[in-house]
Amino acid sequence: MLEKREFYIDGQWVAPATANDFEVIDPSNEEPCAVISLGDQADTDAAVAAAKRAFARWPFTDKAERIALVERILEIYERRAEDMAAAISLEMGAPIDMAKEQQAPSGTWHIRNFLEAARGFEFERKLGAHAPEDRILYEPVGVCGLITPWNWPMNQVTLKVIPALLTGCTMVLKPSEIAPLSSLLFAEIMDEAGTPAGVFNLVNGDGPGVGTQLSRHPDVDMISFTGSARAGIAISKNAADSLKRVSLELGGKGANIVFADADDKAVKRGTRHVFNNSGQSCNAPTRMLVQRSLYDQAVETARAVAEQTLVGPAGQNGRHIGPVVSAAQFDKIQGLIQKGIDEGARLVAGGLGRPEGFNRGYYTRPTVFADVSNDMTIAREEIFGPVLSIIPFETEEEAIGIANDTDYGLTNYVQTEDGEKRNRVTRRLRSGMVENNGKSRGAGSPFGGMKASGNGREGGVWGLEDFMEVKAVSGWAEA
Ligand code: NAD
Repeated sequence: MLEKREFYIDGQWVAPATANDFEVIDPSNEEPCAVISLGDQADTDAAVAAAKRAFARWPFTDKAERIALVERILEIYERRAEDMAAAISLEMGAPIDMAKEQQAPSGTWHIRNFLEAARGFEFERKLGAHAPEDRILYEPVGVCGLITPWNWPMNQVTLKVIPALLTGCTMVLKPSEIAPLSSLLFAEIMDEAGTPAGVFNLVNGDGPGVGTQLSRHPDVDMISFTGSARAGIAISKNAADSLKRVSLELGGKGANIVFADADDKAVKRGTRHVFNNSGQSCNAPTRMLVQRSLYDQAVETARAVAEQTLVGPAGQNGRHIGPVVSAAQFDKIQGLIQKGIDEGARLVAGGLGRPEGFNRGYYTRPTVFADVSNDMTIAREEIFGPVLSIIPFETEEEAIGIANDTDYGLTNYVQTEDGEKRNRVTRRLRSGMVENNGKSRGAGSPFGGMKASGNGREGGVWGLEDFMEVKAVSGWAEA
């Protein structure tokens, strides 16, 4: 079993102030695969103090110095990509090929895109020709607490650490205690790249412990959080007394509106998207809204996709999906599938229990419900498992109404060959992102939501701005 009890504080690997062992469970076999420590107040205080000391210098470095550091991080990250994929696969159950092709490379993608955004970013700008002695200075917000989830670990970590570094912030990362191994490897990368002591710190811990301590800490200026709405609310309350900035990336319940004139791959694509990463993606299009004339055919297609989706262990090569991350997640998904049945949705594929051949590991059956109405629990709650709900609609107006009738507002999807309709519907959807006809968003596009999906924007220029203060200056001396 891997022993990973140390934290990375002030440029050193250090033992926790008090021993508090916590086992990391391999979701493929339910066995412990590593032991970490959960930190306490003394560890959090030491990391925050180091970040505060480093903030005396780091914001005043040249942009070129910060970019050079991130370039070194990218080089080492790419060299260690196989190790990274293996760590992610072990800790959260992503099949190894998927971890190599999607999970680990999501970090590379964000690091590259942030480098591009930072190169073009003007940290000092003129207000306008009417006020020649005015300047707008973009400055780092300060010491940041970065709290991340387990489902796309390096996606989330790089979306926070890299812009914080590039803008001159210093930071304490608290990764998910369920999937901490990839972040510990990331800290090794930060160390090897020569990150100045105190600029980046990592303390493992859970929500009630280090997560809450960071949120309340008077010397932390900002919390950047990705995770559940439940934790987002707790963090916001805990952060209120110190008036720190809180940036939230929370859950989703995306609608995928499939019009009768959608391309013929739309249903297949949408169903596969829901099952990818075993359904554990905040932007999964879990509510498929299908226009009535296409409905029966769409249900059959989704059923076929579910039945063809193989489930297997994370360590095995191939295109299967892995287990879900934990016993708690497995139980939650089972409970919601039962609710779907109890509330009268029509189960067309999958269902309760593990897939045939498994009696250990958090394996879940790729599941499709049809005839779902938008007030059922499975249409309202984020399931975070491989479960698709199909809802029929007649008119465009009705589809928009159903799509927007949710607490969440992260990503919605529209499938139609009619460009005018696509744009019209897109404008009316209340979500931070809309992805149309299976086209993914381009490099540097901001990721974030509205309503209960949070208020942050991560990625590209917007992701840099999330970590900055704007200082307005008059009487600036021309250089
Ligand atoms: P979670 O909220 O339980 O945990 C996320 C992180 O927050 C972990 O590091 C955890 O230790 C910490 N945490 C938990 N309670 C806390 C508290 N009270 N104070 C401070 N920190 C606390 O979520 P999870 O189960 O790890 O992740 C799944 C959730 O994340 C889903 O809801 C998913 O939609 C969401 N998510 C959102 C995005 C996005 O960008 N919008 C991306 C990925 C995941």
